Amino acid sequence: MACCPGDARPLRKALADLPPYVPGARAPIGAAAFKLSSNENPYPPLPGVVAALADAAMDVNRYPDMYATELTEAIASSLGVDTDNVVTGNGSVAVLAHVLAAVCEAGDEVVMPWRSFEAYPIAVTLAGAVGVQVPLAPGGRLDLPALAAAVTPRTRVVLVCTPNNPTGPAVHADELDAFLAAVPQDVLVVLDEAYVEFVRDPQAADGLAALAAHPNVVLLRTFSKAYGLAGLRVGYAVARPRLVAGIRSASTPFGVSSLAQHAALVSLRSVDELMTRVDAIVAERDRMLAGLLAQGWEVPDSQANFVWLPLGDQASSFAADATRAGVLVRPFAGDGVRVSVGEPEATDLLLEVTGSFRR
Ligand code: PMP
Repeated sequence: MACCPGDARPLRKALADLPPYVPGARAPIGAAAFKLSSNENPYPPLPGVVAALADAAMDVNRYPDMYATELTEAIASSLGVDTDNVVTGNGSVAVLAHVLAAVCEAGDEVVMPWRSFEAYPIAVTLAGAVGVQVPLAPGGRLDLPALAAAVTPRTRVVLVCTPNNPTGPAVHADELDAFLAAVPQDVLVVLDEAYVEFVRDPQAADGLAALAAHPNVVLLRTFSKAYGLAGLRVGYAVARPRLVAGIRSASTPFGVSSLAQHAALVSLRSVDELMTRVDAIVAERDRMLAGLLAQGWEVPDSQANFVWLPLGDQASSFAADATRAGVLVRPFAGDGVRVSVGEPEATDLLLEVTGSFRR
C-alpha cells in the first residue's frame, strides 16, 4: 500500500510495550475440537434468549437505549442495590477500562496480582497508568497482604481478581476484610468477580457485603461466563453513585447493543434455569479436579469454570498434545495451562491427555 503522510507519525510509545492479548485457540474451520481455551459456557443460548435476539434484530436501524435502563434496573433489583449503583458496558473488560479512565491520572499506579487476567496490564497501560505486579502466593492464590503492602502514595487502584483467572482460587472473606482495613480509603479496590456464580468455597469473600461496608470498592461482573452471552459483550460495575456516574462519563456511548441488552434481560429472568447449568459446570469442574488429583497432578483449587495446570516449561508442549487429541486449551508459555470446563466428553478427553502426559 502506498505510504501516506500519516504513516510517518509515531504511535503512542506505550503501544510498543503492550503485552498482546492472546485469544483462546479456535478450531480450524471444518475441524472438530472441544474449545476449552476461553472460559466460555459450553451451553447454547436458551430458546427465550434466541427469540429475544430475533425480536431485537428488527430494531437494529435504531441506536440502543444509551443507559440500558431496563437492564440496569433488573441487575440492580437482582442484587438488592439501587439503580444508580449499576453501570453497564460492552463486556466487563470494557467496564474495567472505563473505571481506570474515570479515576487514573497519568502516571498513577495500579497494583495488581500476577499472574492474573491478561487484559489488566494492557488496560492499565492504555489508561496512562503504571502497573505494579505482585506475585501470587503458593497454590495460585492472591497474596492480599503483599498487595496491600505494594500500595504507595502514587497508588490509585488495586485490582483483585476473585476467583483469579487463570489459577482459580477465590479470595477468602477474612483475607479481604484485613486487606480492605489496610488499604487507604482514597485507593479504589476493583473486585473483578467475572466468575462469581461458580464459587462454592464457603470461606469465599462476599463482594456485595464488601461494597456495602467500604465506599472505595467497585465490583465488576459479566454476562459472558455463567450467563453464556460472551458473544454479545455485556458486563457491569456495581459501586457508589458518584463513581458509577464517573464510569458512565468515561464509557463508550451506546456501548451495549440493543441485542445484548435484550438477551441479558431475558437471561436475568431465566436465572434459575441458567444456574442449573452453572451447577452442572461446577460438578464437571469438580470431576476434572478430582481426576487430575487422582492422576497425581498438583493443581490449585478452582472456584471458577477452569482449572490451572502449573506445567512451567512444559506448558506449550502439553497444549500441543491436547490440540492433537482434539482439546483446545490456553497455554501461558513457561508458566502453565488453563483448561476451561466444557462438555463431559471434553473432560474425559482432557483427562486422557493429562494421564498420558504424566507417564
Ligand atoms: N475479568 C476476568 C477475570 C476475566 O477472565 C474476563 C474474561 N476472560 C473478563 C473480566 C472479561 O469478561 P467480558 O469482557 O467478556 O465481560
